[in-house]
Order: sequence, then structure tokens, then C-alpha cells
Amino acid sequence: MTDTAAPDVRTHCPYCALQCGMSLGGDDRGPGGPLRITPREDVRTNRGGLCQKGWTAAEMLTVPDRLTSPMMRATRDAPLRPCTWDQALDRITSEVTRLQGAYGPDAIAVFGGGGLTNEKAYQLGKFARVALRTSQIDYNGRFCMSSAAAATGRAFGMDRGLPGPITDLGRADAILLAGGNVAETMPPFMRHLTDAQEAGGALIVVDPRRTPTARQANLHLQPTPGTDLALANGLLYLAIEEGLLDEAYLAARTGGFEAVRTVVNGYWPDRVERVTGVPVPHMREAVRLLARGERSYILTGRGAEQHARGTDMVTAFINLALALGLPGRPGSGYGCLTGQGNGQGGREHGQKADQLPGYRRIDDPAARAHVAAVWGVHPDDLPGVGRSAYELLEALGTPEGPKAMLLFGSNPVVSAPRASAVEERLDALDFLAVADFVPSETARRADVVLPAAQWAEESGTMTNLEGRVQRRNRAVLPPEGVRTDLEILAVLADRLHAPGTWSDEPAEVFEELREASAGGLADYAGISYRRIDAEGGVFWPCPSEDHPGTPRPFLERFATPDGRARFTPVEHSGPAEDVDPEYPVYLTTGRVLAQYQSGAQTRRVGPLVEAAPEAFVEVHPDLAERLGIADGDGVRVASRRGTATVRARLTDAIRHDTVFIPFHWGGEARANLLTNPALDPMSRMPEFKVCAVRLEPVLPESAPDVPIDARIEEGASA
Ligand code: SF4
Repeated sequence: MTDTAAPDVRTHCPYCALQCGMSLGGDDRGPGGPLRITPREDVRTNRGGLCQKGWTAAEMLTVPDRLTSPMMRATRDAPLRPCTWDQALDRITSEVTRLQGAYGPDAIAVFGGGGLTNEKAYQLGKFARVALRTSQIDYNGRFCMSSAAAATGRAFGMDRGLPGPITDLGRADAILLAGGNVAETMPPFMRHLTDAQEAGGALIVVDPRRTPTARQANLHLQPTPGTDLALANGLLYLAIEEGLLDEAYLAARTGGFEAVRTVVNGYWPDRVERVTGVPVPHMREAVRLLARGERSYILTGRGAEQHARGTDMVTAFINLALALGLPGRPGSGYGCLTGQGNGQGGREHGQKADQLPGYRRIDDPAARAHVAAVWGVHPDDLPGVGRSAYELLEALGTPEGPKAMLLFGSNPVVSAPRASAVEERLDALDFLAVADFVPSETARRADVVLPAAQWAEESGTMTNLEGRVQRRNRAVLPPEGVRTDLEILAVLADRLHAPGTWSDEPAEVFEELREASAGGLADYAGISYRRIDAEGGVFWPCPSEDHPGTPRPFLERFATPDGRARFTPVEHSGPAEDVDPEYPVYLTTGRVLAQYQSGAQTRRVGPLVEAAPEAFVEVHPDLAERLGIADGDGVRVASRRGTATVRARLTDAIRHDTVFIPFHWGGEARANLLTNPALDPMSRMPEFKVCAVRLEPVLPESAPDVPIDARIEEGASA
């Protein structure tokens, strides 16, 4: 199809949760045709800005190794070869039927992603529970915001990213950002922080690295990895000592503060300085800045959340925010910086092991009854709570675990902790099917690969980091041979004789999602495509068509039974794996400007590869000198779980006791070969952000040369 001179299509960037607005145009918007990207001024999150990833997003549509035909391997050792859709779907159906016949419904696992549209996330959760009747579904968002979600659920009764529109940040008197490097992960976000600074507000950044975000801060606190909780408790100690609490707010809007006061008595400044390495005057300045004005924010990113005690770490920052009277006041509050494109919506509508649509719990009888009625099944036929993401991956192919997995929109071979063990589990499966648009590291291990449509080729909704539901609009048709995830799920449900209806039209699926979410915490009942278009997005909860949506929840009351926010006392215990003589250096991981998540997309985009061609390890020059490492050397970094080989990048922006590796690359350069899968007891978040490693130089000629992913090796010429 050729849409000559068709009007530009208004949509959003395919990558992160800022969901920058962009228009897609071009003289030939047919499959494979050129697309012109124009940033949208009317979308206030990016206000006409895009980062390099957004500007180059159209290249993803035409990468040379784009999957355009299903592929299948005859046996585990055989190469993947192109096949027809019927052959691929027959194979999936027969494997599901065979394995469930032998082992029961939970023999099949489903793994989703935080980049899927709301419609796809919803349909995937329904497909698992109704078509497969399996409890074994989770998604990679578990590795992203789950600790903040658990902590905000505990404190406020509801988890919704930012506490208000992002433009509120620009009027703040102070913003404390713990564990987020937005200057690299979502650069247009920086405009809002800059607005606040230019109006006299203060930016305080908590990060073990002097990141580009930290360099812009008025105050940078640089704690030892894994000690953020001690720091937050120490800041609360100082707030109490200096009489900065909002006593009237505490009395009127919160409960449980006295137990927290008792615990933070143990976090006197000198002790906290010893634990965290942050000087007492810096802590004192931070808390005074936060308390000096009327409008302050405390925000957390993955640095404060991806820990085996991540829920408690976030809780410590929420306790501080509550003590200062911030949440539930206009222009103030606590917020989480969601990472993945639909990290917010993707965790609301049922692809999480313990969830049904609308942020309902799957073990709540009333929730089961409501959703079962929408799906046309009996509540007793819905499975119960399944395994969380890492536990699910860890169980694959074991005697008690699933024997097969269907995976959509995720690449756990690169993104999961202790990645080599994940590879082993995938290889132990009887059957693996992956739907993706490129041959990711995980797709290459599959028995069946289904070529899926991607962002500009499909429609749907995404919920951004503000909690605003927005439209993703199709600008081009998918290449011939490619199907959307909704089409794939609909045809599989039909072949599996699933009860109920299975539309492959996003608008119809969204209408069903509205009904299924009605009355839940994440209530989308009043949100329609028409309203989203007319109003520039709608904030949930929005229970009815005449409801205006909820940009700032909690202004009147929190979503707890008594309407009050809940304090929870939390204690510092350090990382799950501390340094010792054998592994004497902390490793922390994160992102760089020109790459995104597992890199399956951005490692295929030429300008992004030029900007960030390979993984590296940041090492302080003093540590490098002690270890005999020079800038650019190959370095072998080893933890108790594996070894990665990357090139050294010397910088005094990192602590002497800590090294940093970005996690976007595959093969031997994978940061997640090293990371610790110790799980948070509440959120089941792995401890990505700190583990113990040792470093040794390798000969320069042995240093890694990490190329763009090659095409699937054998038989992939489809
Ligand atoms: Fe895309 Fe995020 Fe960059 Fe915006 S900040 S252009 S949404 S990757």
C-alpha cells in the first residue's frame, strides 16, 4: 500500500516511558518506505524535544535482519528455517496440547514485556489464564519498577508513577532524585528539572556515579551502592532533629509515624556517614533544601529500586516524603520514574503473575468474579498466583516447572540477572516460541519464531510515566508476512478452542479492557480512544465517561482503606552480596544515552551504534592503577555467577570502590552475566544494582569486539 501525501500520523516514541510525542510522515508511507520524524510541541512531556533514540526510531522499521517470515527448527540441534504461518502455529498448538496433556496447564509459561501496548498486555494475560489456563505468566517489568510499585502500594494504596503531570516538576522548590540518570535515559525530562532550577529550585541527585544528571545538580550525594536506605533514614533523622516535620499533615493524613521515628533514632548522622560515605553537611543541606519551600518532590529511579531490599529502600524515601508533608499536596510528592515505554500500563492489566486487569489481585474472589464475567468463563476456571519473572525463568525445564514457554516482547537472555543460568533454563525447555520483530538473543534459542509488527506498524494505547493514557497510531503497514501480536494471540486462541471472544482489533480489545478494569484501582472505564485524541491523553483512574480523569491522585485522600498514607519502619541491612577479599569491588549497572534496555532494537540502528558501539566498564583511575588497568584495556570482570569481558573506561566520576557496566549488550559483554538474582521479598525484584566483583586486565588484542547482532546464523534468509 502506498499512502502518497497522506497526513502525518501523531504518535509517540517506541522506547522509554516518557513516551515523547512525535509525528510520522513521508512521501511514501508504505511498508519499508521512508518515515520522517517530527517531534510534537503539543505533548508537554517532551515539548518538541527528542533524544537520539527517538530521532532515529524509524530505522528500526527497516533493519536488515528484520524478521518477515515465521521460522522453525525441526529438532533442538537443527537450524531455524523459514516456514509458513500454518506450520508455525500448528507446531505451537501441538506442543501446547501435548505438554499440557502430559503435565497439566502449568506446563506452559508465558513471558511478556513492559513495551507491549495496554491492549497486548491485557490480551496476553487473558490468553494465559483463559486459553492456556496457566498460572505461569510474568513479564520483564518485574525487573523494572516492581519495588516502587510494591512500596507505593503499601504506603498510598495505589501505584501510579509520578504524582501529577510532569510539568508540575518545573515549579518545584526542590527535587531529590535518587538513583535516576534522566540526562541519559530520557533527556527531554531534563527540561522540567532545568525549569525548576531556573526558577530558583534545587536539584539534589543521589547516585554512586557523577552522571550527567548529577553534574547538573545543585547537590550530589554519592553513596556506596546499596546504602540508599540508610541515607534516607539519615535524612529523616536530620529532618526530625531540625524540626522540619509537617506535624499537622502527619496528624491529618498519615498513620504509623511513631514506629518510624523509633527506627530512625538509630540513624544518627555520623553513623550514616560511615555507612554511606555521604558527608554529614551534605545530608543536612539536602534535607534543608527539601523542607525550605512549599513544593518539593522525592523521586526514585532504578538505582534505588533494583535491590533485594528495593521495596524497603523506596519505602525509606516515601517515609521521608511523608514526614515532610509532600505526598497528596499539589505540586509536591513522591514519584517513581517508570522506565519501559509502557512500564506503567504494562503492570496494570494482567501480565503479572499475581494480577488481573485494573490492578486487581488474582487471589481476590471479587476480582476473579468480575474479570471472569467479562471473559465469559467461571471464576473457578481462572488459575491462581504464578511465579514471579526470575523465579519463572529459574523453574523452566525443571521437574516442577513449565516445560514450554511463549514469549512476547522481551529478551531475558540479555536482561535477566545471572544470564548464563537463564540460557541454561531456556535450553532445558521442551519447547520455546518467541514473537519478535528482530532475531534477539532469546529468539535465536527458540524452536519457533513468529515475526511480529512493531510500534509504527500497529495501533493501541500506552500509559506514560505520568499515568496518562495515550494513543499509539499506525503510520505504515507491517511488511508482508508479519502479523501483530493481537493477531497471533487471536489465531492461537482459536486453534486452542479457547472460550470467549478474541479480537485482533486494538480498539475492540481496548473496549473489553475498559470493562475488565472498571471498578479496579487502575480504572480505565471512562477512557476511550475518542477522549484520548480530544484531550491529549487521559489520566487514570477514570471510572466514567463524564469523569475528568485523575492527574493528581491523593489530593483529598490516599487509596488506603482509611484514606491515610501508611508509614512503614525499615532498617538498612546492606547489599545481599557485600564485597570481600575475593570479590573486593562493587559493581553497579545501568544505561547509556544511545542504547535502550537489552539493545535488541538500538544495537541495530546505525547512528546509535556509532554513538555507543560496545559495552565498557567505568573504573576510577586510582582503582585502575592498583589493578594495572589502563584506559581502553580489555578487562575481565568476574562475580560468583560468571565473567564478562569489556573495555575499561577510566573516569573519576565513579567512586573508588565501585565499577559500572551498562547492560545493553549481549554475548561476553553482558553485565547480567555478573548480577545477583537475590530477590526482594515483596516485589521479587532482583538485585541488579549491586554485587561484588573482581577485575583483571586482559591483553588488548583479547579485548572484546562487540559487533551489531548478526542475522540469525543458519537458514535465516527469509
Ligand atoms: Fe524516546 Fe524516551 Fe528518548 Fe523520548 S526520551 S525520544 S521517549 S527514548
